[in-house]
Amino acid sequence: MSLKLYNTLTRKVDEFRSIRPGEVALYTCGPTVYNYAHIGNLRTYIFEDVLKRSLGWCGWKVKHVMNVTDVGHLTSDADSGQDKMEKGAAREGKSVWEIAGFYWQAFKEDLVRLNILPPDVWCKATDHIAEQIGMVKALEAKGLIYRLEDGIYFDTGKLGDYGRLARLDVAGLQAGARVDLVQGKRNVTDFAVWKFSPKDSKRLMEWPSPWGVGFPGWHLECSAMALKYLGEQLDIHCGGVDHVAVHHTNEIAQTESITGKQWVSWWMHGEFLTMGEGARMAKSEGGFLTLQALIDKGYDPPAYRYFCLNAHYRQQLAFRWESLDSAATAFERLRNRAIELRQAAAANSAGTADAQTASSGRLADFREAVEDDLNMPRALAAMWGLLKNSKLPARQAWADLLDMDRVLGFGLETIQPRKIEVDADLAARVEKLIAERTAAKKEKNFARADEIRKQIAELGVELKDTPQGPVWRKL
Ligand code: AMP
Ligand code: ZN
Repeated sequence: MSLKLYNTLTRKVDEFRSIRPGEVALYTCGPTVYNYAHIGNLRTYIFEDVLKRSLGWCGWKVKHVMNVTDVGHLTSDADSGQDKMEKGAAREGKSVWEIAGFYWQAFKEDLVRLNILPPDVWCKATDHIAEQIGMVKALEAKGLIYRLEDGIYFDTGKLGDYGRLARLDVAGLQAGARVDLVQGKRNVTDFAVWKFSPKDSKRLMEWPSPWGVGFPGWHLECSAMALKYLGEQLDIHCGGVDHVAVHHTNEIAQTESITGKQWVSWWMHGEFLTMGEGARMAKSEGGFLTLQALIDKGYDPPAYRYFCLNAHYRQQLAFRWESLDSAATAFERLRNRAIELRQAAAANSAGTADAQTASSGRLADFREAVEDDLNMPRALAAMWGLLKNSKLPARQAWADLLDMDRVLGFGLETIQPRKIEVDADLAARVEKLIAERTAAKKEKNFARADEIRKQIAELGVELKDTPQGPVWRKL
């Protein structure tokens, strides 16, 4: 077993090794719960789910922690702009707590609909204010922070290797610094660890601290909660690629300054889902698509999972309705094959020795794909290879498919035929056409029977002739 994974820190694909034998400490940056997750965010969570499932499939016991950002994530990375949560509350005329509760629940429902396994530990930023203040105190004791009018800042100039993860050209950034940066920052890369409440208005969420009433800087929560739940060193930390240059870079600066140790062995990042002309789908831009919007258009959530798995996680994926349609068709084919195979396996006896060998060959392809930095397009191809292998006894094929599904996560073991509400008019038209076709066949008018079959297909209906007679279903 040799799982190879890309590490943003080294920019290389290397064989994964955990710090503690057999165990993986995994931290994934979670949602900012001021709005629904969009399908771009969900692409990142699907990638992380595949990673976690693959680690489990390869034999590691994973402890997975995910945070929920319910305070302090500003609309700008430059420590200016509004707190996203307060903005969401103002938009909807609700309390910040109501907003957080509502969108966190909506996020959990999205995870369930996409078959994404929940983390072992969910942790909310607002439940860990004391830990975050504790970190700022530790940074203060090391002389790494300074005070400005609007908050307490981390002095990145004091670190020799700041920006190592993103390979930042700090001098270049300094030269091109924007004028709208917070006044008084010593270095363009310095960031707030504690922000003060405005003097003239009350914030909805604020806490006392040794430096003044306010709220923690966004980057701090991940450092504080990862330390609390996973210890000073962890194996893998994930997020989307947008987190490399600022959020994860700052998490590293804070955490390693305090512990004096390398914090994370493997940094892994999912590439963007883009819309149209390569533009990243973003929550703050408006006009984004939610999973519910896909459902409202008639797509089944696992079809979106299939769509994401069709691209490698380190490649940008352009969202197009036609591509989603192809993924949905492929997923329906998979669903139907899985149901057929499950029924056949239940009725079938065990496979022969020959079949066993052929099957382990299939799994070898699949294993290679997973071990090759989670190459899901290849893994899907290996899965279809298995399903097309008609020589394999059903029991064997079904067992192999279930094994693959531990990584792919389509929930095939208990998958049911898709329930589509068919309107009564359509059903009546289809039944009438089927009766006409049966009559045409009886009269040996095959040209007419074919014509009717075409008409049925044009209604978006699949027709199958079975020993029990014609069976149809809406696609
Ligand atoms: P947020 O809720 O904005 O903090 O984002 C949640 C996760 O989605 C983070 O890991 C982001 O890096 C990731 N993300 C944001 N936009 C996209 C996108 N267009 N495609 C893929 N992942 C994204
Ligand atoms: Zn984070």
